[in-house]
Amino acid sequence: MENSEILTVEAQGNGVAVMNLSSYVAGGKIKSDKLLEVRSPYDNRLVGTVTQANSSHVQQAIEAALKSKTPLTRYERYSILEKARNLFLNRKEEFAQIISAESGLAIREARYETGRAQDVFLFAAIETLHDDGEVFSCDITPHGKARKIFTLREPLPLAVCITPFNHPLNQVIHKILPAIAVGTPVILKPSEKTPLTAIKLVELLYEAGLPHYMLSVLLGPTNEIAEPLVKDPRVSIVSFTGSVAVGKLIATAAGYKKVILELGGNDPLIIMEDADMDKAVFLAAEGAFRNSGQRCTAVKRILVHEKIKDEFIKKFVEKAKEYICGDPSDPKTMVGTVIDEPAAEYLENVVKKSVEKGAKVILGGKRKGALMESTVIIDVPRDADMVVHESFGPLAPIMSFKDIDDAIKLSNSTAYGLSSGIVTNNMEYALKFVKELNVGTVNINEVPGYRIERSPFGGIKDSGLGIKEGVIEAMKCFSYVKTFSLPW
Ligand code: NAP
Repeated sequence: MENSEILTVEAQGNGVAVMNLSSYVAGGKIKSDKLLEVRSPYDNRLVGTVTQANSSHVQQAIEAALKSKTPLTRYERYSILEKARNLFLNRKEEFAQIISAESGLAIREARYETGRAQDVFLFAAIETLHDDGEVFSCDITPHGKARKIFTLREPLPLAVCITPFNHPLNQVIHKILPAIAVGTPVILKPSEKTPLTAIKLVELLYEAGLPHYMLSVLLGPTNEIAEPLVKDPRVSIVSFTGSVAVGKLIATAAGYKKVILELGGNDPLIIMEDADMDKAVFLAAEGAFRNSGQRCTAVKRILVHEKIKDEFIKKFVEKAKEYICGDPSDPKTMVGTVIDEPAAEYLENVVKKSVEKGAKVILGGKRKGALMESTVIIDVPRDADMVVHESFGPLAPIMSFKDIDDAIKLSNSTAYGLSSGIVTNNMEYALKFVKELNVGTVNINEVPGYRIERSPFGGIKDSGLGIKEGVIEAMKCFSYVKTFSLPW
């Protein structure tokens, strides 16, 4: 396999040369004069280019994936994932630099993301070796028989995976590796805002020995690439992570096939009157500002018991001052840019609109290009756009509630149902939240985003169909159960 062509080997202050990458159809680079330019959201410098695919490449990628091949054994799949893991360990810093350069995320966040990806490699390799079958004895009822029923999992013939910009590596790896682990070929359509990390990962997997038919990566206009892929009846599963609007379009367009939707969130951090105040302040700041607030599970609403609201706000503002935004390549920068200037303008605007409705900005609120200051807003009305819809950036709107029932009502009041964090030491409160919050996850004394890469993860309502991801659950998504029985 050819190495990516390096156009310029100038470090430009962040260690990333301009990269000329390509879409791939089953290991083959696409020849085309249509180039997608990827620019830094921080200073608009060219970070890389990607050769774009067209609709004929979609057909080629589907045909290549479906050509009958000898299935990979468990050991072969494990060996590829393990080799890829080792290659990745040597290139973590390179990946972190690319993530930061193309997304504007602070380099400390990009490095954290590579640590998570390392875990996904580990768990996918381990899970490949686990037997996934079950055995049911049939002589266990009065009308039973001397038989046994067995299950085994078979890979789906072809998966299409469509990913968002906000974790350029982790969103992609959470789909591709579980598919490889079960032996399902993938056509990947990453975000056009952050394609470079995704393509570098694909190249790394080819280098680790992944048969080329197992993976293609296509960038190009939505009507030529993503839409035909979603609709094609030869595709057995579409696994999508992204916005609610696009997720619902996909649900309608996909037709008779499996659809996995991991969509937006509007997660609360609920701080009860008995909370450990320092913990609450720390979790609120980490949850709202990490990854520039661009996590599906970022804290997008801080709900505080009215008895402790004033004390919390005073301490939280002091903490929030530490989350200074700036040059993403500086290791001291806590908050990088959001994905682009229009996204920052949206955030600035949604803050202004909430102020018009009576909210007060007590820290931040200003924007420069794609840099949005870490912003603390109090007295946010319950019907302000900022808290009704998902605000994907470093905003910390604070609202108060009078008791646990009010907190639950407020928390459940949006269309979303992804995750939640609760700060309390009261077991009765904790149990009531677990039972009554309409969300996919309830984390007690943690941020909503807490997870390990193999645990089930995903939301309900507009956040998803209740089908979970995480390495183990995603492996189930990319395979189906075959049942057989034998006389015994
Ligand atoms: P997006 O605009 O929905 O885009 C996601 C992907 O869908 C991109 O690859 C995009 O391609 C593609 N796409 C756009 N239109 C399409 C269409 N008509 N058919 C098929 N694919 C299409 O989302 P985003 O702005 O990148 O990501 C942010 C959103 O993702 C937030 O709402 C966030 O909460 C959510 N998210 C959810 C989770 C979760 O696990 N629940 C995790 C992370 C992020 P282009 O780039 O070419 O437009």
